[in-house]
Amino acid sequence: MKNITIIGAGLTGTLLGILLGRQGYSVQIYERNKDPRRTFVKHGKSINLTLCKRGVSALEKAGLGDEVQKLWVPVYGRCLHLSESQIEIQPYGNYGEALYSISRQELNTLLLSVAQKTSGVSIEFGLKCVGYDLSRSCISFIDENQKQNERPFTTLIAADGVYSAIRSQMQRNFGFNYSQYYSKHVNKELTIPAKQAKEYKLEKNHLHIWPRNEFMIIAFPNRDGSLTCTLQLPFDGNNVSFRKLNSEPEVLYHFRKLFSDTIPLLPNLVDEFFHNPEIPMMTVRCSPWHIEDKILLIGDAAHGIWPSYGQGANAGFEDCEILCKCMEENPDNLLTSFTEFQEKRLKNLNAIADLSENHFNEIRHLVTDSNFLLRKKIERKMNLLFPSEYFSLYSRVAFTTIPYKQAVELEQIYSRVVDELLNSQEIILDPDSHESEKLIYKTYRRYLR
Ligand SMILES: Cc1cc2nc3c(=O)[nH]c(=O)nc-3n(C[C@H](O)[C@H](O)[C@H](O)COP(=O)(O)OP(=O)(O)OC[C@H]3O[C@@H](n4cnc5c(N)ncnc54)[C@H](O)[C@@H]3O)c2cc1C
Repeated sequence: MKNITIIGAGLTGTLLGILLGRQGYSVQIYERNKDPRRTFVKHGKSINLTLCKRGVSALEKAGLGDEVQKLWVPVYGRCLHLSESQIEIQPYGNYGEALYSISRQELNTLLLSVAQKTSGVSIEFGLKCVGYDLSRSCISFIDENQKQNERPFTTLIAADGVYSAIRSQMQRNFGFNYSQYYSKHVNKELTIPAKQAKEYKLEKNHLHIWPRNEFMIIAFPNRDGSLTCTLQLPFDGNNVSFRKLNSEPEVLYHFRKLFSDTIPLLPNLVDEFFHNPEIPMMTVRCSPWHIEDKILLIGDAAHGIWPSYGQGANAGFEDCEILCKCMEENPDNLLTSFTEFQEKRLKNLNAIADLSENHFNEIRHLVTDSNFLLRKKIERKMNLLFPSEYFSLYSRVAFTTIPYKQAVELEQIYSRVVDELLNSQEIILDPDSHESEKLIYKTYRRYLR
């Protein structure tokens, strides 16, 4: 049996373990935390996350489609809370397209349990990797008693997240390129509890957004009737920021000014504001992702992206699917597999990293940009007129498995059609009229015969 060692039993590491175990590899996974099925583990990330077509498709390939489906709440569109009295619903698509809101803990638990039952896969908890020695093919760990340990490896795959210890060591190698870019905004989670068990205080099957330019709250539903909100404010600065809001009256004063309708929904607002962690957003780019056929980075360890497009975990799952395909096609050649994997993924992950940074700004400013809402309307109409041909950029990313870079490149063509239509008086006056529809049809066909 060929041996693979994986560092990190998070979302990416566990799915990869399952897929490689099924391909006949002997897989050893090491995780720094205790087993989250036995102890509560604070991971400093969001409580829930959204899966989309990419992630779901990889989970289905692992035969987990039915199990995962039991854990999620589908979300069919955005509900924009533009002001206390103005709400706008934006469906994600014309055909019931949905994101799937799921508890990170429940998803990870499912993956861990399936991995442990997979023949050839074993997981050891409480071992924090602190480095590797390539010349001796061994990994160094610190255990829960702060004792140093070593384990041998044949091939090492680092799925140890955005602050990867393996990647940190690779950074010292000649030719390893690395950059990281923090958003000036950070996230803090707040809870809208259930009215009573499984009864929601807000419409259940929507992502709720309170966009206020520099500031924003988004809320995703959980299965128990609660919603987890993410408050996004600048970390620092003289205006409203996490550093500036340092007393209860200040928090309440600014919440009343910015998000007054959320106050009755958030009974523990002040307590959560001062006790829940601030979660940063960081883009990490690096290359090469591998050292020969010995070490490979995957998931957030290879590419950190801002969570605004909800793609980080989805991309990690897609990585697993694509890496396993490369390994299947090159059964006795890990070097070729790793080279092909990087060739297929790196440009795509750079594309979604850019997109995620841009989308974060776009979504916060929705309310002040009247063109944005009209653009969305035109895009939905184009999709109705050309259902098998045209999808908006958001749809291509979230509801298809078109490679990210290709999804972005297509936008260069389609955005010219929408830009022209946005300047038409006909459309501005009544985008729903029959005349507007004819104009959309003709303009689209002129650009895309
Ligand atoms: C606020 C927020 C919201 C998000 N929302 C979404 C979303 O809606 N949709 C989406 O697709 N993505 C989302 N993401 C991104 C997503 O969380 C990550 O992309 C995903 O968790 C990456 O999975 P991973 O397994 O590669 O890394 P991680 O989830 O970071 O897992 C790494 C694992 O390795 C372990 N580990 C770390 N260091 C060591 C070490 N030295 N030794 C041993 N083990 C180690 C960790 O304990 C962990 O178990 C969000 C992220 C944030 C911060």
